[in-house]
Amino acid sequence: MEKTLAYWQDKAATLSIEGRAFIDGEYRHAANGRTFDCLSPIDGKLLVKVADSAADDVNAAVAAARGAFDSRVWSGLNPRQRKAILLRWAGLLREHLDELSLLETLDAGKPIGDTTSVDVPGAAYCVEWFAEAIDKIGGEVAPADHHLVGLVTREPIGVVAAVVPWNFPILMASWKFGPALAAGNSVVLKPSEKSPLTAIRIAQLAHEAGIPAGVFNVVPGAGEPGKLLALHPDVDCLAFTGSTNVGKLIMQYAGQSNLKRVWLELGGKSPNIVMPDCADLDRAANAAAGAIFYNMGEMCTAGSRLLVHRDIKDVFLDKLIAAARSYTPGNPLDPKTSMGAIVDQVQLDRVLGYIEAGRAESKLLLGGGRVKQESGGYYIEPTIFDTQADAKIAREEIFGPVLSVITFDTAEEAIRIANNSEYGLAAAVWTSNLTTAHEMARSLRAGTVWVNCYDEGGDMNFPFGGYKQSGNGRDKSLHALEKYTELKSTLVRLR
Ligand code: NAP
Ligand code: MG
Repeated sequence: MEKTLAYWQDKAATLSIEGRAFIDGEYRHAANGRTFDCLSPIDGKLLVKVADSAADDVNAAVAAARGAFDSRVWSGLNPRQRKAILLRWAGLLREHLDELSLLETLDAGKPIGDTTSVDVPGAAYCVEWFAEAIDKIGGEVAPADHHLVGLVTREPIGVVAAVVPWNFPILMASWKFGPALAAGNSVVLKPSEKSPLTAIRIAQLAHEAGIPAGVFNVVPGAGEPGKLLALHPDVDCLAFTGSTNVGKLIMQYAGQSNLKRVWLELGGKSPNIVMPDCADLDRAANAAAGAIFYNMGEMCTAGSRLLVHRDIKDVFLDKLIAAARSYTPGNPLDPKTSMGAIVDQVQLDRVLGYIEAGRAESKLLLGGGRVKQESGGYYIEPTIFDTQADAKIAREEIFGPVLSVITFDTAEEAIRIANNSEYGLAAAVWTSNLTTAHEMARSLRAGTVWVNCYDEGGDMNFPFGGYKQSGNGRDKSLHALEKYTELKSTLVRLR
């Protein structure tokens, strides 16, 4: 059956949505009975009231996680037993593809075509990847004196709290709980208040798959639970994805409490550099539009600074604007929609504020307005400014569909502009010269560099994270396991 707008609307009308926290193997209301309203950015209407977890709930979740860890019900399994259970869970995520994608679309305004093809399958793939890896990794026998046997092993760290954002809710969460659970830890997941629904739903599926009570807990809430987890004396590790400002607070909370390990995946203002010898300007223009307008620009890796060489600027901008027009805001439940709704009113106002700032100091080339206001939802058209590297819109992370175009004359100047940022998450360069490609890739201070592409590499094999104030540590790849394990040296004297 073809899944049309009507199909998804019907399904949405009959969907029953869980809004409670998941603690120690069961759904629970917040201990104080408080809830907050979870609205859909598609039309501004109430989806469900969600448990507003507070100290009692966070303490209960951490205690359950600690109890499960200490009992070894999960951490003590043979890795291949954990693998089997995690693969069952991933299978359930795939079986519930429609339901989970619909929840994500209703909650975050993301196009249904994206949630069904990227977000939910991507989360299942992440769980599978770490499940498959975990029974194939061993420790080391280190060189030592003849009378010693020296073992170097990795052990799960204990209770891992994951605090995640709203732009890819289930996917960003999976990048934390996938490796953390595979390594044998217990997890307390705190989804964003703007997008808690998939996290809440998959907890029940984890339980069904056989993940023991207490091993995977979810505490939704409006702000507070993240801080409480970061300050908690019994949380061993806090894995965070979100803004640089909150990341700085989380490091402070760790310092004020128990020096828990803190891993931060933060913001970005990624440069996308088009050199005059770019072999395929059409492809580069399409990729440049996708880099900022996919997911409504709500992407940490958004190519939000487009650096174009003066010689090709005019022809490139014509192609870019044509490509940008294919991102027309539409109903996220319509499979034909390529651009959905901004996540909520707060983010809408924030992005519109940046657009106002842009109008004052830059030349508007495309868009610039709120649209579909009659829907009750939050929609902004693809917006492009011709501007300067030091403009506010070219320096600060907007996290919306707003592109700053900056002109340069030499490769050195492009690198200088690209690196002149507090961020260092990703970067791209388009050139047909192999030497230019490698030299520029080496010079760019960013955790990921794309050459003649943007946002490629959906595989788990590539570490993902930032230089500078884009954070520390890496999600994805076997390196992610380093965040959720302690290294132990064991020295055995033989005689
Ligand atoms: P955010 O405001 O920093 O929030 C992230 C999470 O932290 C949310 O769950 C939030 O809860 C929680 N939080 C808020 N205040 C807190 C506090 N004082 N202590 C502990 N936790 C707290 O970020 P966002 O607006 O959700 O997400 C957008 C940001 O994430 C952008 O900067 C983007 O670049 C970044 N991001 C980075 C990556 C990456 O991998 N590098 C990926 C995606 C997004 P509430 O929602 O309840 O406030
Ligand atoms: Mg929401």
